[in-house]
Amino acid sequence: MLVVHKYGGTSVGDLERIENVTNRIIKVKEDGNDIVVVVSAMSGETNKLVGYAKHFTSEPAKKEMDMLLSSGERVTASLLSIALQAKGFDAVAMTGRGAGIITDDTHTYARIESIDPTAMQNAIEQGKIVVVAGFQGTNKEGSITTLGRGGSDLSAVALAGALNADRCEIYSDVDGIYTTDPRIEPNAKKLDTISYDEMLELSSLGAKVLQSRSVELAKKLNVKLYAKSSFSDNKGTLITKESNSMEEVLVSGIVLDKNQARVTLRGVSDRPGIAAEIFTMLAEANINVDMIIQNMGTDGSTNLGFTVPQSEHENAKKLMESFNHDMQGMDFDEHVCKVSVVGVGMKSHSGVAAAAFTVLAQNNINIQMISTSEIKISMIIDENYGELAIRTLHEAYGLDR
Ligand code: ADP
Ligand code: ASP
Ligand code: MG
Repeated sequence: MLVVHKYGGTSVGDLERIENVTNRIIKVKEDGNDIVVVVSAMSGETNKLVGYAKHFTSEPAKKEMDMLLSSGERVTASLLSIALQAKGFDAVAMTGRGAGIITDDTHTYARIESIDPTAMQNAIEQGKIVVVAGFQGTNKEGSITTLGRGGSDLSAVALAGALNADRCEIYSDVDGIYTTDPRIEPNAKKLDTISYDEMLELSSLGAKVLQSRSVELAKKLNVKLYAKSSFSDNKGTLITKESNSMEEVLVSGIVLDKNQARVTLRGVSDRPGIAAEIFTMLAEANINVDMIIQNMGTDGSTNLGFTVPQSEHENAKKLMESFNHDMQGMDFDEHVCKVSVVGVGMKSHSGVAAAAFTVLAQNNINIQMISTSEIKISMIIDENYGELAIRTLHEAYGLDR
């Protein structure tokens, strides 16, 4: 078998943990498998590097940020390879480029365009354990790019696809996918399997256990994906095509996304083209807009609200202040979060949303924005109540049972 393992920041958080990872890899190798390992930076390292850059400017150049941030993963890949060699195993460390990953030019959020797995395949043929620095590639000109925060998950899935690996196992500090973040709700239940679609929904709503782009790619390439813990030998969760256990349940998961900031534009001129102007401007600045709410206009004006990632809040604020025409005022709130209830069963049941609103009301939690789709309800609330909301909703939908 050829397997790809990915070890996240906490799993390689210090030298002892890197040593623990070597033992896990050696076991796979000794069982007669070939293995490619993708690693993240040691936990906290990427944020520390972001902090260093922000010491000098609030808007560091993205190209330089990529060169800076990609270094964290290189440290772990080299150390892990050295640790394996010290135990007598033939290992080789590769950068994203070394592993053949070519991306587009979107610095800090690059898309993988192609992977040439030859170098990895040659090393595997020579019996080597291949250790790849996650989260990075290079563009066609050879500049280093990174794949967005949490992007080592994407590296692992993409490499598993390119190598036609038998499975791709993502190791973190939780032993699988739960009905909600088990750190917030200790009664959360682990799922044996979950469908790509449902996992994609949880991830894109902010459950950071798997990066959403990695789930999207796993679905596209049909990669057999597992979420497991590097601190136990528990079975983990299989993310796969169909998961009939999920179809029957009304609500399958609750998600908290703390990385949200709200922008409200008041008294915006109610004329054709105004929304296009505002959101084109944000798109051109590469600001990802998440929830958008607009009211029916009255007296020729309307209110327009939307959310952006917290890291983009300052940029969005500057842009809106520079636009500042065709509206009466604006306000910004960084201290919000998004709480979402997910379940394919909602399609055919009414009253799921009403139940969520009722539960939050009973706990005196004010809902600032609401958006729904066939299979999810998302609500923007004060960030201080995020965890309480998660626990109450989890209980209200009986997910703890
Ligand atoms: P890594 O650093 O290894 O990539 P992450 O911190 O990105 O790991 O992801 C693991 C974390 O995801 C867990 O510690 C947990 O708090 C969080 N998490 C959020 N939602 C869920 C969920 N539904 N199931 C499991 N873990 C979740
Ligand atoms: N180190 C990067 C981050 O913190 C990538 C990753 O861990 O997947 O976002
Ligand atoms: Mg992660």
